[in-house]
Amino acid sequence: MKGCARSTADVGRREMQRTKWTRATLIRKHGGRCHLCNEPVDLKDPASPRYATIDHVVPLSRGGRDLLDNLALACRACNEKKGATMPQEPKP
Ligand SMILES: [Zn+2]
Repeated sequence: MKGCARSTADVGRREMQRTKWTRATLIRKHGGRCHLCNEPVDLKDPASPRYATIDHVVPLSRGGRDLLDNLALACRACNEKKGATMPQEPKP
């Protein structure tokens, strides 16, 4: 299995860069604010409850897609609170 470990690492790195890019795009799109509590997110400290995370508006487990349209910026606290539940409020 030569090269197997290396290609896995490559995929991981590419995935990480994609996540970074997605996060930067969402930060710009939402003006650096959580889409659930509307508070500014923390971009530096991963241990902070306000740390910027990527939220699936419709969770993958409910058929949501892994596309920008279905992604939003959320602080870690809100994302964890939300879990796999879906907000019932309709979008204005
Ligand atoms: Zn929040």
